[in-house]
Amino acid sequence: MDTGLRDKVAVVAASSRGIGFAAARGLASEGARVVMCARDAERLESAATELRSSTGAEVLAVVADLTDPTGPGRVVDAARERFGRIDVLVTNTGGPPPMPFSQVREEDWTRTFGSLFLSAEKLIRLALPGMTKARWGRVVALTSCACREPVPGIVLSNSIRISLHGLLKSLVLEYGESGVTFNAVLPGFTLTDRMKELLASRSKSSGRNPQELAVEATQAIPMRRAATPDEVAAAVVFLCSQAASYITGVSLPVDGGRGGFVL
Ligand code: NAD
Repeated sequence: MDTGLRDKVAVVAASSRGIGFAAARGLASEGARVVMCARDAERLESAATELRSSTGAEVLAVVADLTDPTGPGRVVDAARERFGRIDVLVTNTGGPPPMPFSQVREEDWTRTFGSLFLSAEKLIRLALPGMTKARWGRVVALTSCACREPVPGIVLSNSIRISLHGLLKSLVLEYGESGVTFNAVLPGFTLTDRMKELLASRSKSSGRNPQELAVEATQAIPMRRAATPDEVAAAVVFLCSQAASYITGVSLPVDGGRGGFVL
C-alpha cells in the first residue's frame, strides 16, 4: 500500500518514547519528515538520533512541555520554521496519575484538562489553518480504550479524555469539506516503558511478580496479550495515509478485542 506520506511533514507530540515514539518511527519509515517533542532534552535528542539512524528520515526535535501555555506554539513554530508546513498532526501526552474519585481534588481536574485536552486543542488550532489552506491534512489523536469502557482506578483519564473525541467529531462537522480528516486511535494495554514501570511499581507494593501482574492484565483481552507500541503506531500511520482519505471522525481501538461491543 502506498501511504503517500513521503516528504509529508508530521508533528508527533510527546514522542521521546512509548506510543508517541513508535508513531514517529512509523511515519518516518514511510518517508515523512518528522517533528518530535517532549520535555526532557537529553531523552528527546537520543530518541531523535535513533529515529534518524534507523529510518534515514529528517527529524526535528523540539523540547517543549505541552502543558505549558506556550509549549504547543513552540512546537508548531519550530516545525513551520524548519519545514514550511505541517501536513500531519498526531496529538499525544503523558497520562494523568491513577487515583480513585475519593482522592481527586479540584486542581487535579484542571491539570488533567490542561494536559489531555488543551494541549491537543492548541496544537490542532495552530496546525489547522495551514492544512485547510493546502486542502490536505491529517489529525490523529492518541487517546485510550478507557474512552469506550472506563478502566477502574483512573477516573481522571476516564472522564476527561472523552472530551477530545467530542472536539474531533465537531471538527469533522465544521471542516468536512476542507481535505483534513480528524480521527482517533484508542490504545488498550500496550507494553511501553511507562507500562513496564507501572507494573514494576505495582509489583513492589503488592509483593507480586510483574510478569504475573502483566498476565493478569491480559485476562480481559480476547487476544490474551498486550499490544506492542508498533502495533498501535501502525493504526496511526494508516489513518495519516492517503489510503485513509475517506475516513474521518473514526475512533479506532487497538485493544486486542477488549470490551466486546458490537460496534
Ligand atoms: P510513555 O510514558 O512511555 O510516553 C509518554 C511520552 O510523552 C514521553 O515521550 C514523555 O516524554 C512525553 N510527555 C509526557 N508529558 C509530556 C508533556 N507535558 N509535554 C511533552 N511531552 C510529554 O507513555 P505511553 O505508554 O506511550 O502512553 C502515551 C499516552 O497513551 C499516555 O497518555 C497514556 O496514558 C496513554 N495510554 C497508554 C496506554 C498503555 O497501555 N501504554 C493505554 C492507553 C492509553
